[in-house]
Amino acid sequence: MQNILQIIYLISSVTFILGLKFLGNPATARKGNLIAAGGMILAIFATIFLYTTETGEHLGNLGFIFGGLIIGTIIGWMIAKKVKMTAMPQMVSFFNGMGGACAALISMIEFRHLVSSGHYETASAGTLITIFAGLVIGTVSFSGSIIAYGKLEEKIKDFSLPAGQFINIGLLISLLGLSALMISGNIENTSVFYIILVLSVLYGVLFVFPIGGADMPVVISLLNSFTGVAAACGGFLYSNNVMLIGGILVGSAGTLLTVVMCKSMNRSLTNVLIGNFGGSNATAAATSTTFVGSIKEVTKSDAAIMMKYAKKVIIVPGYGLAVAQAQHVVHELEELLEKNDVTVKYAIHPVAGRMPGHMNVLLAESNVSYDKLVEMEEVNPEFATTDVVLVIGANDVVNPAAKTDPSSPIYGMPILDVENAATVIVMKRSMKAGYAGIENELFYKPKTSMLFGDAKKSLSELVSEIKSLG
Ligand code: NDP
Repeated sequence: MQNILQIIYLISSVTFILGLKFLGNPATARKGNLIAAGGMILAIFATIFLYTTETGEHLGNLGFIFGGLIIGTIIGWMIAKKVKMTAMPQMVSFFNGMGGACAALISMIEFRHLVSSGHYETASAGTLITIFAGLVIGTVSFSGSIIAYGKLEEKIKDFSLPAGQFINIGLLISLLGLSALMISGNIENTSVFYIILVLSVLYGVLFVFPIGGADMPVVISLLNSFTGVAAACGGFLYSNNVMLIGGILVGSAGTLLTVVMCKSMNRSLTNVLIGNFGGSNATAAATSTTFVGSIKEVTKSDAAIMMKYAKKVIIVPGYGLAVAQAQHVVHELEELLEKNDVTVKYAIHPVAGRMPGHMNVLLAESNVSYDKLVEMEEVNPEFATTDVVLVIGANDVVNPAAKTDPSSPIYGMPILDVENAATVIVMKRSMKAGYAGIENELFYKPKTSMLFGDAKKSLSELVSEIKSLG
């Protein structure tokens, strides 16, 4: 029976790896998700029905297990069904937090189990390290993800304690020190375990709280990798291969994503860990900036003429495109322009929108061809030979302050160099700031014209105008 279980675990692990591979491309992502989910269902049911203890007993408490599974499935299903595309990152953050909490609960249960059975003193260092690592990493992931959820949902504002970085470093040192003392047996007071739990909650909260500006994507992917590592600790504890492999895959994929994100935001990982960037102070400094010059508006008919008679148009999609659900009409505009011999491309900034790959997923929904989506490094040199750049609901990712204003919370983040094009048309509803909460000098530049209104409505009218030009 145990051999069959191990073979099923192996099959499930392969589905996770295949799932990840398919998730790497928008065309196959849905299939990848289904394959990995199928593997997970297989692993869960195989564990419930085939797992036996050393004494040959099957899992008990089936009522509780199935009760939990049914309630969890219904809640998860309802939340995922109801969530708007633009609120997806909050949901991911929340679910990630739940994963971290599960991993921490495993550590708590196993710790209590060891203490109450009198095996704590004789437990191996490996077991204790895994228990404490699972507790700390899982709890930090839980509390940090809940704060990230609140921030993305705009229920929690940036907040930083004076000398917050030092408090965070102090907390990290205390967590490591207390855990080491407990593992080595130098402290035998079991209540220290719960002190570590509270300090971990505090660290998760304090390290995510001050992160503002445009830096949330890095933190979200870091928390994701934490949950993976915490789950892998559970796999070690139970010698459960599928949990171990699943956790390691999430942990390593999340870590790689974090490194890529750090690179694309020009931030260092150490700064993320001690909660040291893009905080509220920098935002306050930057919002008070006022720019020389005034904004200029363009009518839809003038914008239509500029685009129809252009040789090359680059579209810059941002969060506002997702809010307006304008992905289908932007595709219609692209096809219309191409029919008029205009070359059209989309410039994809790595953090455009509210989650990694947000714009790719959105545009894939309307069947935009993938070869038209061009990544930032590749597209930036192309702006100089572009007649019209159409910025649709994007703001921070085209903000020149990232290059010119050292006091800006987005300073150092690479941006799309739209200013190098002959003309820039910006579609948004007002002069309001984007996610980082800062003004954008691009809107005041002589080359820039604003086209105010909801992106979907403006784009539909633009399409009609171009059609009416014959
Ligand atoms: P921004 O949030 O900077 O700007 C979006 C703009 O869209 C706003 O200025 C808004 O202006 C406009 N907008 C909103 N609704 C509409 C609508 N219906 N029609 C037209 N325009 C609309 O988005 P970007 O994509 O430029 O940048 C993403 C930001 O989010 C970055 O700061 C990034 O760091 C952050 N972030 C990214 C994550 C990721 O993983 N990608 C995760 C978390 C945060 P107005 O209100 O005037 O219409």
